[in-house]
Amino acid sequence: LLRELAIARVMASFMFLSNTLAMDDYMSVSTYQDMALTTVKQLGQGHFGVVELCSHDNSSNSVPHRSELVAVKSLRDNMRSVQNTSDFRNEFDIWREFDHKNIVKLLGLSLPSGRLVMEYIENGSLFSWLSQNRKQEVPFDSIFEQLFAFSIQICEGMEYIHSKGKIHRDLAARNVMVGSQFCSLDADKISLVAKISDFGLSRRVDATKTYYRGNPEEFPVQWYAPECIKDQSYHYTSDVWSFGVTLWEIFSYGQRPEYKNAEKKSHLTLVELFNALQEGCRLPRPVNCPTSMFEIVRSCWAFKHEDRPTFTSLLGKLQKEEV
Ligand code: ADP
Ligand code: MG
Repeated sequence: LLRELAIARVMASFMFLSNTLAMDDYMSVSTYQDMALTTVKQLGQGHFGVVELCSHDNSSNSVPHRSELVAVKSLRDNMRSVQNTSDFRNEFDIWREFDHKNIVKLLGLSLPSGRLVMEYIENGSLFSWLSQNRKQEVPFDSIFEQLFAFSIQICEGMEYIHSKGKIHRDLAARNVMVGSQFCSLDADKISLVAKISDFGLSRRVDATKTYYRGNPEEFPVQWYAPECIKDQSYHYTSDVWSFGVTLWEIFSYGQRPEYKNAEKKSHLTLVELFNALQEGCRLPRPVNCPTSMFEIVRSCWAFKHEDRPTFTSLLGKLQKEEV
């Protein structure tokens, strides 16, 4: 039985490469040929995927000798389990339906490997952008307007995702990319645009429900709402909790959110974390975060999911904030 299981796993990996994302299923998206993609460098890797910068040779098309840069995502070699493979397909299915200025654009699928081809975002993730600025000692005040614009842009992208009946489930600064915005009114101060990415954990919500039930496995619990930690139910407003943590990352200038056990000075277990959140423990206000902004952040961290604001109401509040 074990041998058969092992064979089934290997077969499943091959299925992923050849059939899982077969051309017939996806005639509506652009297809790229693996052979026309040349890797330039690795851009980053998360828990599940590796993202590479590739140059795409267009010379077989109408424009001769023209190549474009794209970002190409594949599953990490050690992550090719049946579950992850189906999550990868799910990521494609969800992402291909999105078309919004604050969401990284999925361009298509590369065959026969089945990798995802997306627009290349030259400034990388918001997390690395924040850390770099902090390390280079760029004064926080000088980028405050830009950070505020990012907050609104992420909120707009999330409002759109929810309007499409999807939950992101992994909203964090590492999964928001920083793109360039060429037609900015105030090019000096707000020249960058936040674009939400990484739909690997995203799910479609059954139209008759307001939540999705999933496995807790290897999830980023510091970004997770209490109901996700306790019984793995993901509501639309579970994303709102994660948005609050993302705002915390932005206004703490790229620090990592960590709940620590004051007595043991160690990380909390899941049960300890849930109990602490239930007792009202929250991440502290970052020194650079204005108190009115932190009130908005705190509203995202209401213990009960039904007490949290929607992205539409958050957008209204953020737009009223004075910068
Ligand atoms: P995972 O599902 O493994 O978390 P991600 O989609 O989050 O993978 O990508 C991992 C990292 O790769 C990101 O944090 C970012 O640094 C980089 N990256 C992802 N997409 C792009 C892109 N379109 N352009 C530039 N860098 C990217
Ligand atoms: Mg990621």
